[in-house]
Amino acid sequence: RPIVFSGMQPSSASLHLGNYLGALVNWVALQETTDPVYCVVDLHAITSQQDPEALRADTRALAAQYLAAGVDPERSTLFVQSHVPAHTELAWVLGTMTGFGEASRMTQFKDKSQRFGTEGTTVGLFTYPVLMAADILLYSTELVPVGDDQRQHIELTRDLAARFNSRYGETFVMPEGFIPEASARIYDLQDPTSKMSKSAASDAGLIRLLDDPKITAKKIKSAVTDTEREIRYDVAAKPGISNLLDIFAGVSERTIPEIEAEYAGRGYGDLKKDLAEAVVERLTPFRERFTELLADPAELDRILAHGAEKAAERADRMLGTVYDRVGFLRPT
Ligand code: ATP
Ligand code: MG
Repeated sequence: RPIVFSGMQPSSASLHLGNYLGALVNWVALQETTDPVYCVVDLHAITSQQDPEALRADTRALAAQYLAAGVDPERSTLFVQSHVPAHTELAWVLGTMTGFGEASRMTQFKDKSQRFGTEGTTVGLFTYPVLMAADILLYSTELVPVGDDQRQHIELTRDLAARFNSRYGETFVMPEGFIPEASARIYDLQDPTSKMSKSAASDAGLIRLLDDPKITAKKIKSAVTDTEREIRYDVAAKPGISNLLDIFAGVSERTIPEIEAEYAGRGYGDLKKDLAEAVVERLTPFRERFTELLADPAELDRILAHGAEKAAERADRMLGTVYDRVGFLRPT
């Protein structure tokens, strides 16, 4: 079975529809055919400032959201990144092989550093993609299911793997991004040219999975559209409507042409109302399951401890090989 790795940051209490449609739905499906490793990437999360108590709570809550969406700890290796020190250790080695200019070209860094300002932009934010490369390469990952925003980071990971292999001999497996066509990128409902993001400045355009259904419906109904009347998929001319159509296709498992045909000659109000219903219907069982899981934190912690043990065994083996290849004297 091909090995899969992916992770999300506990950078907020709730995931959003972009995380769900762009990544999580795929994670669950991949359990049927692959050997998946799914991580709560808390080390990544501190590249934006976190409150310690909130981070701890959000880490558990994120694990519970994975489980609520259908990640099965028997079929997947589910763990918290900071529980497996090999991630930071390999990141150091890879950092010494990453060009400063190469890292400077990452658009996520450019976007976030603009948002965080000079004070908030840290070296950790800059080296984020190197840590992500370590996450992926430690497990000999073949497939990385992520949203479209991570395409460039996967490319960097591949470059680093190739560089290490050519310098020190065949060590890492060359990973590939597994990026869904539709709903690979969900945009902010208030600003349909920037991606929906947990760390967005404003909440109004963000559909959080754990929001109250009334709030979800309200946000969808006030989504920014355009002054035309026609419901038509055209990202350049109609980013708002196109985004709503992507979301509709994602939650209802219908295609965009099918939805376009159904709404031919009808107004934006109809589309928004039905979309709000479809989203709420899809998320209600998820929210119920989440609440059950969160009610038993000891059981959650037990699942995560078991996952960390499985992950560390694999990660430590790879890190040992890397340290040998690099020429570190190993302790006896
Ligand atoms: P942050 O703002 O803290 O970076 P985020 O919303 O970008 O949060 P991440 O934890 O960085 O979420 O990413 C988790 C997964 O969700 C990744 O696979 C990423 O590609 C995917 N993802 C994030 N935002 C979107 C989006 N708007 N559309 C589709 N996929 C997304
Ligand atoms: Mg992100």
